[in-house]
Amino acid sequence: MPSPPGPSIRLFVNSDLEAGTIHECDANQTNYLAAVLRLDAGAELLVFNGRNGEWLARIAEVGRRNCRLEALKQVRVQADGPDLDYLFAPLKRSRLDYMVQKATEMGVSRLQPVLTQRTQAERVNLDRMRANTIEAAEQCGLLRIPQVAEPGKLDKILAAWDPARRLVYCDEAADLASPLQLLTRMQPGPIAVLVGPEGGFTVGERDELRRLPFVTALSLGPRIMRADTAAVAVLALVNAVLGDWR
Ligand code: SAH
Repeated sequence: MPSPPGPSIRLFVNSDLEAGTIHECDANQTNYLAAVLRLDAGAELLVFNGRNGEWLARIAEVGRRNCRLEALKQVRVQADGPDLDYLFAPLKRSRLDYMVQKATEMGVSRLQPVLTQRTQAERVNLDRMRANTIEAAEQCGLLRIPQVAEPGKLDKILAAWDPARRLVYCDEAADLASPLQLLTRMQPGPIAVLVGPEGGFTVGERDELRRLPFVTALSLGPRIMRADTAAVAVLALVNAVLGDWR
């Protein structure tokens, strides 16, 4: 359910939200509300914390260095979206920013960077990833911020895998087969998606993945896409067939 008409400003706060609770804005939030938007006391906005739904709030007090928001009333109950983990080989900065924002808009519950043999990005900036998830959630009216997990090596993640969660891995070398039919045959339930690096999966990684009972290899058609394109394509298919687009 998209936000009802009302203030267009939406802010993620990490305070509990109940009628009358006060949220002390951090420096960035204060700068945004006071300096950029030049809002005065009494101005109304929407706030959410990922747990208590979305609330109408008002600026109780605002100055150059501080801004306090008062929660007034809940306007949307918490809705969590699909139990859908998104695993991906980290990409270079701007493409990673894009992919993290798109995966968030697609309602993933968790972002798990996976270090594969051909992963290009040496380090993963988790704070930057978190900031991108919050920005995407604020802009797109989402109520849940996906968890951002520490990067892990592919074999370690697979070794610790909960087999109750199906893993759909996008295999650029897979034989052409309808992804819709493949996903439609899967049981609804916890699911994860894996997209590889710009260099693709190695033969060894492919064999390792295909041997696992909880893994389903998925073809995304005859053309090889960039990883960030594949991310949107597969998350759209999974949401449409097994997620909350039905
Ligand atoms: N450079 C590699 C392609 C990597 S594309 C090559 O030329 O083979 C990056 C990732 O996007 C892949 O690892 C895969 O997970 C996904 N992907 C891209 N195109 C795909 C397709 N047609 N089918 C399935 N997955 C695809």
